[in-house]
Amino acid sequence: MYTLYIVLFYLFNVAACQHGIGHSKIYEKLSNQIISKINKAKKEYSPCEMKNGSCFYPNILSDLEPFKNGITREMIISSADKGTRYMIFNHDLYREVKCMFPARCEGTEHFLSKIQLNIPDVEFILNTRDWPQIIKHYGDPKPVFSFSKTTDYVDIMYPAWSFWSGGPAIKMHPSGLGRWDSLRKSILKEAEQWPWKNKNQKGFFRGSRTNEQRDSLILLSRNEPELVDAAYTKNQAWKSDKDTLFAPPADEVSLEHHCQYKYLFNFRGVAASFRFKHLFLCKSLVFHVGEEWKEFFYQFMKPWYHYVPIKPNSSEEEIKNILVFFKEHDDLARAIAEQGYRFIRTHLRMKDVAWYWETLLLEYSKLLKYKPKLDDELNLINR
Ligand code: UDP
Repeated sequence: MYTLYIVLFYLFNVAACQHGIGHSKIYEKLSNQIISKINKAKKEYSPCEMKNGSCFYPNILSDLEPFKNGITREMIISSADKGTRYMIFNHDLYREVKCMFPARCEGTEHFLSKIQLNIPDVEFILNTRDWPQIIKHYGDPKPVFSFSKTTDYVDIMYPAWSFWSGGPAIKMHPSGLGRWDSLRKSILKEAEQWPWKNKNQKGFFRGSRTNEQRDSLILLSRNEPELVDAAYTKNQAWKSDKDTLFAPPADEVSLEHHCQYKYLFNFRGVAASFRFKHLFLCKSLVFHVGEEWKEFFYQFMKPWYHYVPIKPNSSEEEIKNILVFFKEHDDLARAIAEQGYRFIRTHLRMKDVAWYWETLLLEYSKLLKYKPKLDDELNLINR
């Protein structure tokens, strides 16, 4: 028995040391913590069986809760500088001329035009900036639709324009990331070429330095390239190598190409990053760094069940330890990867996004305390 213990102890240390984790007690403690978090998440998770996006309904209710006493015309007027004013009137879609990012308005209008026939007269302000606008407990809340927020804001979340168009422009998507419908297909097809056992056992990330929270992973990759392949690419703000953490910018890599890797990293950018939903379709394990910034569907995905949560200020060492844990516990990694994949594949389809828009506007319209009227500033977008 004693000999067996010695042998097991030796093997455990060899495994840990192979990955440079000299202190096996720390690794053992971390392993136990992770395993118990995974077990707890599994026990507590009850899958949503509803169809057509209705799983996301609680988010609509909670976002509209601050406006439960009703929305007046004055509230809309006082929010007008926060975004673009839209109206559905007599089932036609109207918009004021001003739109800060036309491709983002276009991406939104794709969905509005699909549902306008089912929506009563309604007026709303759509913020097309990345950043939410209405800080909680800072005067009376104003009804402004934004794609992403933290709990410090009371913006009403809407499905990002980039489900259709207007996302960041990269080489593979020169007119801007979008078309979730076709990207879903092409990523799923590529994922089939990379079954779990054939995937490269490295952490992977490509993206620009929109947030410094990404630095630890980039530095870990530079120090341990056999464990992580992560590098900064250029974005439009790039001026010198300083903006890519003192290294020349890396080539951009398609979202499909990400499927070759077992462990994919997501970080917030300015707000939530559009990258998140795509990564799951690879059936790889998603490491989601920082959970503060949400889109409308995030709260229905659970840490340790659909993805691995990583603290936003994690050191290289902390990231490394978690990666090593999942390399050593391949079955757990694979199960979480499959659960994340199943969620996005079954609940986040184009028709779920259209359902969300429709239900959001139906619920929102019930709160209007006035009957919207057309005015000279509104132009017909779609009849
Ligand atoms: N992107 C990509 N390949 C790259 C770099 C970026 O597919 O090599 C995608 C990425 O997935 C994200 C978008 O381009 O959806 C913008 O990425 P970036 O890191 O520049 O900014 P973010 O929006 O994440 O802050």
